Amino acid sequence: AKKRGRNSYEFYTNTLDRQSLKKLKMESELRTALDRGELFLVYQPVHNLCTGQLQGAEALIRWNSRHFGLVSPADFIPLAEETGLIIPIGEWVIRTACRQLNIWQTLGQPIQSISVNLSISQFYQHNLAGMIESILQETGVHPSHVTCEITESMTMDTDNVAAVLHSLKSLGVSISIDDFGTGYSSLSYLQKLPIDTLKIDQSFVRDIAVNESAEKIATTIILMAHHLGLHVVAEGVETAEQLQILRDYRCNAAQGYLLGRPVPPDEFFPKNFPVSL
Ligand code: C2E
Ligand code: CA
Ligand code: CA
Ligand code: CA
Repeated sequence: AKKRGRNSYEFYTNTLDRQSLKKLKMESELRTALDRGELFLVYQPVHNLCTGQLQGAEALIRWNSRHFGLVSPADFIPLAEETGLIIPIGEWVIRTACRQLNIWQTLGQPIQSISVNLSISQFYQHNLAGMIESILQETGVHPSHVTCEITESMTMDTDNVAAVLHSLKSLGVSISIDDFGTGYSSLSYLQKLPIDTLKIDQSFVRDIAVNESAEKIATTIILMAHHLGLHVVAEGVETAEQLQILRDYRCNAAQGYLLGRPVPPDEFFPKNFPVSL
């Protein structure tokens, strides 16, 4: 029994070592991923549910690592946050997305706006609003065409987040609360923070047509948002039935595999016909 116990202990430490080695390797690879051009953005369409037209796109980061292959942002964004790499990566995301929007608008493509995801660490970086302002100037993108998405849990860090959000609002960019309904935070921030849009989390949208309580949560979020003068976007829309319910409740916009998967920029606009519902 003693020997067996020792073996399983060794097995356990070996497993830990392998995991922490992988993490170290991933960290060192991520450190140089930007310079090697391994990071890229894909864009997912956001459709206006009233007109049926495309209104914008959300930029989502991807990492094609020479060592690990395609790594999901769910796996490397937390590491980027831990190591501080999210600061240069986050700036690269904003610059790349703004450049892309400017290219599309210059080509006359029917797209109004771009959304980017921000991490809490970026709210502690020096002069986030100033950095975004220079990118807007450099790329020629109008601030009203950019939306910053923050997660609901970030609003719990009220004081710092409020100050930075107000500086972003003064720039003229829009603010959207991502994953709304999952953040376990008090709703009082909706009055205190300068928010434009709520994005209903995909967990509620997924079950909207099959589960009455998910439908009630989703539709209540829509009603509440409208009472507060906010826009609502539903994410994770995969079926026509989900889309119909969201339309019936006057949800403003929708995003999801039904309307379009995230794709590289050259695949975003179909060649011969306009994108519409
Ligand atoms: P998110 O911001 O909530 O993005 C939505 C996620 O849902 C994306 O996953 C998207 O590909 C996926 N999705 C879109 N439509 C559907 C659908 O109909 N069904 C299902 N099942 N999924 C759908 P992705 O691209 O893997 O990104 C995961 C998360 O990583 C994002 O969640 C966001 O929190 C984070 N992330 C992505 N890009 C960035 C970035 O540039 N910066 C930061 N800080 N975080 C990012
Ligand atoms: Ca998002
Ligand atoms: Ca989300
Ligand atoms: Ca999410």
